[in-house]
Amino acid sequence: MHLYNKQHIKIYNSLSGEKELFTPISEGYVGMYVCGPTVYSNVHLGNVRTFMSFDVIFRYLKHLGYKVRFVRNITDAGHLENDADVGEDRIAKKARLEEIEPMEVVQRYTVDFHNILNKFNFLPPSIEPTATGHIIEQIEIIKNILDKGLAYEVNGSVYFDVLKYNETKPYGILSKRNVEDLMHNSRELDGQSDKKNPQDFALWKKAEPQHIMRWPSPWSDGFPGWHLECTAMSTKYLGEQFDIHGGGMDLKFPHHECEIAQAEASNGKAPVNYWMHANMLIMNGKKMAKSTGNFILPTEIFTGDNPHITKSFSPSVARFFMLQAHYRSILDFTNNGLLASEKGFFRLMDAINALDDLKSAGTSTFDIKEWQQKCYDAMNDDFNSPILIANLFEAVKFINQIKEGTASLSQDDLDLLKSTIHTFVFDVLGLVNVKESENGTDKLSGAVELLIQLRQEARANKDFGMSDKIRDELAAAGIQLNDGKEGTTFTTN
Ligand SMILES: [Zn+2]
Repeated sequence: MHLYNKQHIKIYNSLSGEKELFTPISEGYVGMYVCGPTVYSNVHLGNVRTFMSFDVIFRYLKHLGYKVRFVRNITDAGHLENDADVGEDRIAKKARLEEIEPMEVVQRYTVDFHNILNKFNFLPPSIEPTATGHIIEQIEIIKNILDKGLAYEVNGSVYFDVLKYNETKPYGILSKRNVEDLMHNSRELDGQSDKKNPQDFALWKKAEPQHIMRWPSPWSDGFPGWHLECTAMSTKYLGEQFDIHGGGMDLKFPHHECEIAQAEASNGKAPVNYWMHANMLIMNGKKMAKSTGNFILPTEIFTGDNPHITKSFSPSVARFFMLQAHYRSILDFTNNGLLASEKGFFRLMDAINALDDLKSAGTSTFDIKEWQQKCYDAMNDDFNSPILIANLFEAVKFINQIKEGTASLSQDDLDLLKSTIHTFVFDVLGLVNVKESENGTDKLSGAVELLIQLRQEARANKDFGMSDKIRDELAAAGIQLNDGKEGTTFTTN
């Protein structure tokens, strides 16, 4: 008997706005598609958070015994700077600025994306298809939509006819918009004059002479519209109808709305049963943006090389921090939040490390089965990782009580406790057991913090010889001190 027969998941479906009992199309199988990154820059921490939410969902579904086919694409063409089909292709622009081939941009940032996700201990998806690898499939879908009379060609470009589509199927069903409002609110942008209506979107764009990334098609040498690739790849690998489609909240409109319209137009069926959206990540209460300096790269968390954090954090601590918020809540990334999570993380790991030395007793003073079901209940309730973590800390409490001799567990219950903790901490949450004593950077930062303090005392005593000596010797050892408004921080090379 599979666990999924006993543990029933409820998923918040963005389409209905309600939590619904999850019933896959084929019993025992789950098809899940998540919109992947556009690989034109280092992966954004907000995207890491979205992908982490679906990594945990993937892990939990697998744990329950489902055979999951998880498709997460790489966007390597067709994503323009502006959602309204205008501006340069993001990858082509980066290639032009750096004077390299677009595929060099794609390679560099795909490698970066994989490296970061590996550090965070992500499971690889079952299939990771690329947009450029599916041009033929995209052209076939466009032909199909043209045949149905729901798209039109103008000057070598093909646009989806939103008004025509809306005559029979509601456009805006996911983001709860209606076409009348959209028409009222949209304005004509430069370069959009080919479209019948501003809310129409590109299925195929004719390439300008300077556009390098181009493919032949029945309409022109050009490139597919961004929304089309996900319809092509999800249909190819998961079928015309599949179980779960996920992505960041920001993709709900227009991207996912367009995916629904394209698939409905092409196949006559609603493509997805459960639409899931992860909320955004902000930093220090504000939107994260490179331009304002309120920004951190994922790798800077591991090195500590960023003014918004006072030390480095291991990937597992950062992962633990992010999973302490539910995927549908906004997550505020702060130094204090990370410090608190680090304490909690090591408290959890200490308890897990103590498990093997626990002695069993004749009787149990806890109902482990009931506690175990509470862990499942948390994940069954729309993958509520913070509630799961709260339950894990319940276990930490009674592990410590057993250690102190104020509580006891029978051998069977002790075994069940161990296996349940391992399942949820390592298999489902995807954390890695790091002992605090093995956390090398922690020891180093402790020592450097002490030297920073001694240097401050020397400066306060006007002993500038000593304060300079500390700074220079540390620099010689590859540790740079940075004096700022909020005190001194350090970076290592
Ligand atoms: Zn997509």
